[in-house]
Formats: sequence, C-alpha cells, structure tokens
Amino acid sequence: MQNQSTMTAPITPTDIAIAKRIQSIDPSDCQLYSEDGFWVVDLNVVRRQLERWRKELPLIRPFYAVKCNPTPRLLAFLAQSSYNLGFDCATHAEISQILNLGVPPENIIYANPCKAPSHLRYAAAASVRTMTFDNSTELYKIRQCAPDARCVIRIKLTPGAASHTDGDIETPMYDLSLKYGVTFEGARDSLLLARRLGLSVVGIAFHVGSGQADVRAYARYIVEARKVWRLAAETGHVFSLLDIGGGFMDERFEEAAGVIREVLEREFGDMMRDGNVQIIAEPGRYICAPGFTLATNVIAVRAEDEDSGGVSGKRAVYLADGMYSNINAAMWPGELTFPTVVRGRRMRAMDEAEVAPVSPVSNDSGVEFDESEGSNAGDGEVGMRMEGALQEYTVWGPTCDSSDVILKSAWLPRGIEVGDWFVFKGLGAYSVCMRNPFNGFSTEHEFYYIDE
Ligand code: PLP
Repeated sequence: MQNQSTMTAPITPTDIAIAKRIQSIDPSDCQLYSEDGFWVVDLNVVRRQLERWRKELPLIRPFYAVKCNPTPRLLAFLAQSSYNLGFDCATHAEISQILNLGVPPENIIYANPCKAPSHLRYAAAASVRTMTFDNSTELYKIRQCAPDARCVIRIKLTPGAASHTDGDIETPMYDLSLKYGVTFEGARDSLLLARRLGLSVVGIAFHVGSGQADVRAYARYIVEARKVWRLAAETGHVFSLLDIGGGFMDERFEEAAGVIREVLEREFGDMMRDGNVQIIAEPGRYICAPGFTLATNVIAVRAEDEDSGGVSGKRAVYLADGMYSNINAAMWPGELTFPTVVRGRRMRAMDEAEVAPVSPVSNDSGVEFDESEGSNAGDGEVGMRMEGALQEYTVWGPTCDSSDVILKSAWLPRGIEVGDWFVFKGLGAYSVCMRNPFNGFSTEHEFYYIDE
C-alpha cells in the first residue's frame, strides 16, 4: 500500500505549467483526445543534474543512455550542452538519431553486448567504433561486420565470489547481470579469442543494474574491473577505457559518487594520473527522470464495489495513461513516484430534469449510503492540488487488461472525479519510450518545456 506524503511540497514551475494547461481543458466539451495526458519537462532540472555530475565526478565523462528517454528536444539539449556529453546507443535507430544531431561518431558508445548484425554493419559504416561485447559469438560477428571496432568487454560479478566479503549487494530495480556480462572466469577465453581474431579490445564496461540503491555495488565492480584489467595485460591487450555504466539514482547520487571516487583512486589512481585510462559512464535515469512530470486525466470513477452498495468505501479511478502508455513504471517496485491529484474541470453535473424519474425502491440491504461519495467533495480551484481528507483507491490504467493497474491501494484525496488529474513527478526514465498503441489508446502526448 502506498500513502500520500504528509509533507506539502513547494509549488514549482512545473506545477504552474500544469495548472495553466489543466485550466484550459474541459471534458464536457468532448474534443477528441483533449483529455489525454501531457508532459511538462523542466530542462533546468536536467541542467542541475549535469551540474551535480560535474561537481561530484569531474573526471568521469557521462555518455547519456539514449534508451532511457529519447525525446528529441531532450537529446538536442544534451547534444548542444557544454557538459562534454557522449551518448550510449543500443540500436541503429538510436545511433542515427544521435548522429543526425551532429554528434561525431567517436562520441558514441554502442553499448549493446548482443547486437543485431545489420545494426552492427550500420554502426561500422557510420564510424561508430567503440562497442561492447560479452560472448564469443559476438566477437565473431564483430570480426565480420566491424573489424576495426574498439571492443569493450562487458563484465559482471561472479556470484558468491570470495572477494565480496561485505555482505550481499541489494538487487537493483533491474538486474542487468541476469542478461549481460562475462565473469572474471570467462573473461580470459574471450580476451584470448579476440586476440586470435585480430580484434582490438580497449577496455572494460559494467553496469551495476538500473536503479541500484546499494552504492557498494560500484565499489565491487571497480575492484573486479581492475582484476580483469590485469588479465587483459596478461593476454596481450592494452586497455585504456573504463566504463562504469549507469544505474545512478537521483537520491543516492552524491553517496555513490563518493564511493566511486574513493575506489577509483585506490584501484586506478596511478593510471589516472599518468593519463593511461579514460573513464566514462552511461547514466540514463539520473539525467532524465527528475525533470519529467506526467499529468494524466481521470477518465472514469466508481465505487470499487458499486454493485454491493459501495460498503467497502474504496473507490476506483481509471486514468488516461497506464502501464502501456507512459506509466510502465507501475510494473516495477520502487520506480513509480507517488502522485498528487490536481483539481480539473469536471464533467457538468446533470440536473434532475435530464434524468428519467423512477419509483423509489427500498434499500433493504441495510447499507448506509454516503451521499458525499462521488460528489464534489474535494472541490477547489481548477489546477490546484486536491488536499484534505483521504480515501482508499485503486488506480487503474485505461486498457481492458486487468494487470494494467497503477496503484492497487493508495490513500488519495476524497472526492476525485472525472476530469481531475494525477500528476506523477520524476517519471522521465523508461516511460515516454514505452508507450504503445495497445487497445487503441493514443501514443501521442503533448510536451511543454520549461527552459531558462
Ligand atoms: N547502459 C546500459 C548498457 C544499459 O542497459 C542501461 C539501462 O538499461 C543504461 C546504461 C542506463 O541505466 P540507468 O538508466 O539505470 O542509468
């Protein structure tokens, strides 16, 4: 169960932009798609994240992970910014989107250890040479499609290895080591095969898992990377690149950065001072999540158990967005921020004359009906946060799939009606790019930008 925070947050430029937009939307005039969700993107927040990075990790060059949020205006903003960013791309489409912004190919890492052959050929033709691998088939593929590649070996920790003595690392939101990476034990064979194929392996990449709250993971991976670095020298490779991946969480960033600085100094300090290693990272969610806010409309409301008289007191609301459109985060524990509810223009109340009279029937269920249920309790100014007494709700997405549920139990302001809005802050990661047209709901959403 999730509960509304008791703290009242200050009003932000995003709140003001949302209020203005909401004031202009009236569900009673029934413009097709007018009640669809919209995004407010505060580019100043993106800038703030990059400033924090520069302050905390000045020696590590961030390569933004395009997959996380490829919104064109965000990418253009990042490409033109003065933060010396590179880009982590995983497909032909991402590479081409970045190249079309005028980014030179050497500022791209093709960070997908299992690449589609045609995408690989495209990358080679476009002079995108730095790319990850974690298996022998990939090396053969690279040999055929991109023999000039600068290969980067993607590693993962050996489960239960003796060097990991300070307890188990917490599982991140998305454990990418289930899918990618070669352990120290497997790395020797890969490096030897690369030598036999005449491929140049220039460094190591890892990813601690997306949304990794346990900052010790970075320390463990850096120690492991140093071991593989030595192994590389033994197998005849000269390494110069360390890629510490993504996974950074906004609220843990300074803590993670402190650990990274300390362990890098211990393991790679000499090399860094001699200029023998370039260190990069692939942050995604850290850069794009906080600046993106989704406002999505309440399209239906009911008592959860209307057919038995609403005795439970629990209400159900249905939003214009769900896990198939923008709120895919609902599938992942910890990903979704708790919403605030904003008063919208509601459907016009029908007056008595429009409703056919029926003879009264007795309420012999003995249930007391709460007349305020579903009425305009929670009234307030359009565009303002609804506050006051809380009530339990299930929050559903709009599709006919019963697993399209956003919050199974949430205490939210009493009296939410059709036309009100749910606002999800910090939802910029793995959301915009997950929209699909399932069930005929629109995938087009408007974007409003705040920039200094
Ligand atoms: N790099 C790679 C190879 C990834 O697969 C991902 C996410 O899946 C990222 C970077 C970005 O991770 P995050 O958004 O957690 O920073």
